[in-house]
Amino acid sequence: MFKFEIQKQSKKSRARIGEITTPHGKIETPAFIPVATLGVIKGGLSSQETEQSKVQCQITNTFHFLDLDRAEQVEKMGGLHKFFNFNKPIFTDSGGFQVFSLGKGSELGLGKIGSIFPNGVNQKQKGKNLLKISRKGARFKSPRDGREILLTPELSLAVQKQLGADFIYLLDVCGTPLDDKKTAKKDLEITNQWYKRFLSASKGLKNQKIFGIIQGGVYKDLREESTKFVNDLPVFGIAIGGALGKSKKDMYKTISWVNKDIDWQRPHHLLGIGDLEVLEEIIKLGIDLFDCALPTRIARHGTAMTSKGYLNLNAGKLKNAFEPIDKKCQCPVCKKYTIAQINFLFKSKEMLAGKLLTIHNLFFLETKLEEIRKKIESGKF
Ligand SMILES: [Zn+2]
Repeated sequence: MFKFEIQKQSKKSRARIGEITTPHGKIETPAFIPVATLGVIKGGLSSQETEQSKVQCQITNTFHFLDLDRAEQVEKMGGLHKFFNFNKPIFTDSGGFQVFSLGKGSELGLGKIGSIFPNGVNQKQKGKNLLKISRKGARFKSPRDGREILLTPELSLAVQKQLGADFIYLLDVCGTPLDDKKTAKKDLEITNQWYKRFLSASKGLKNQKIFGIIQGGVYKDLREESTKFVNDLPVFGIAIGGALGKSKKDMYKTISWVNKDIDWQRPHHLLGIGDLEVLEEIIKLGIDLFDCALPTRIARHGTAMTSKGYLNLNAGKLKNAFEPIDKKCQCPVCKKYTIAQINFLFKSKEMLAGKLLTIHNLFFLETKLEEIRKKIESGKF
């Protein structure tokens, strides 16, 4: 029932177009996976509106289901697809990255996404490290109900089974770009042990497929070691996670280290990255899937993605902009609303403003990907 087929390999780069088949439909790759933190994409979109945005799939964060008995509730309703009326492929991460945010992320003032790069770390934001990692698992206090949780590979798997997504992820230890080699090496050793435990507990898994995650931080030999280790695991897809360096250039370099040995027959997912500036480059490096909270988060705060770059609709001087966000965009918002109207809604703090921009940004990104897939198809990319 699950399948990944590569339909065309570019001759100009490592880019390829492919198709992932799941029990909940197909995903044409390269594909964007919007973040649906708690099961729905933030911004107030119904599943119908999500579909109008041309969204092919979504990813939900397991971390938010570790307490408050949320996973049990979703399981009783028949899983995420039924619970949130979303009948397309769903991914759930392992919880590892959010746990990292509570730990080193909080200590160093590194946020969740985009701030994987330490540039712009605000020293004043430094908080307490609320996390303890041992070979057993990651121990932390729930930020919601104060419960002490030991996130183990077995628990991550059990919760991801309850949620019932099509694709689930192995539990890893996420580091930061500031980690020294000794720390990164130890984290990788623990990660590899956790992978083995996760996989041995997952025997007999039904209707769900697993993604392994290449770790190793900013160190070439560790990345290469991790790539070989994950290649040998019986996983459907391969993700690249963890610290990717201090700049975009570092990130591309990290991907190229991984590319030397990665299994090219399996889908590749770059975790947590997907802004407009890097999109084309990462696809050229052979990335098939990428998730990122940025396009929907900036939408809620007033920023639209356009063919000319980012446009802030929450700014002044837009009262007389009686034109769509992007003249070429065919989304339901650009067909009916002008910049001036959306600017008015933002200034009046109407919820509709963020929702309209979320629909536009998702549609815009999906359209851009359609164009890229066509370019790969016709040999222009
Ligand atoms: Zn639009």
